Amino acid sequence: MMLNYAEPVYRPPSEAKSLIFQITIGCSFNECSFCDMYRNKEYSERSWDEVKAEIDLMAKQLPDTTRIFLADGDALNLSTDYMVKIVEYLYNNFQKLERVSCYAMPMNLLKKTPEELKKMNQAGLNMLYLGIESGSDIILKKITKGATSETIIRACRKAIETGFTLSCIIILGLGGKTYTKEHIRDTARVVNASSPHYLGTLTLILETGVKEEFLTKFGEEFHPINDDEALAELHDLVQQINVKEKMVFRANHGSNAYNIGGIFPDEKDEMLKKIAWLKEHPENVRPEGFRAF
Ligand code: SF4
Repeated sequence: MMLNYAEPVYRPPSEAKSLIFQITIGCSFNECSFCDMYRNKEYSERSWDEVKAEIDLMAKQLPDTTRIFLADGDALNLSTDYMVKIVEYLYNNFQKLERVSCYAMPMNLLKKTPEELKKMNQAGLNMLYLGIESGSDIILKKITKGATSETIIRACRKAIETGFTLSCIIILGLGGKTYTKEHIRDTARVVNASSPHYLGTLTLILETGVKEEFLTKFGEEFHPINDDEALAELHDLVQQINVKEKMVFRANHGSNAYNIGGIFPDEKDEMLKKIAWLKEHPENVRPEGFRAF
């Protein structure tokens, strides 16, 4: 017997080998204009009976599981007590479990007290994935993110200070050609102030289902950036990131025109050199081409 997922199910690339339990369905916000992940789902929370039955089943089938990801879009929206109950039950049933993670929105983190977050973290919810998308308040408003640069920074700091490993995502090209400078400058500012443990980039791809809404909400003609401009954004972002704590950086998602990665602050110069090399070798566009590097 398999788990009864409400499709589609998304998880971060780094959770590819994790066992996924869908403890919430959809996204409690579901309004970001670039995101089509949960448009066909109404937000709901799975009952304890359903969640427990699935954990019991998979504990028998995959007892050696070490990593679990809790779907869908913002499982951190669950009440603290319910999340703690689920996480504790996971550790009690998977003896080799090392890591439990989920997606979180800034507002999920801001709604909870530091004590609540610590309680969930101490129960074993170790890692959160949070979409910064952009640090520009103009762009955040245009994409109806439901957050500002200030609330994003507060949410990220709160997650880190209450013990979580934090992985953040930003989206290259989200301001189009018009706001490219503000996008990168303000995103670097938010990343520097937030200082997550991991940072990944995607490049904006507008799926058919949300394209019209995105363009309407953006409020003016949106000119997508091209691959050269994506590389320029990547360069400026890397150059303007100045974190003091170690931050693993990856621009290796399939949506990116160019593929780089490294660890801030030590490998910043190395990454800038790679970007300079890519500018000289534009034939390496798209991750497949990167194999030659
Ligand atoms: S909060 Fe995340 S999952 Fe929800 S609509 Fe926005 S980007 Fe999509």
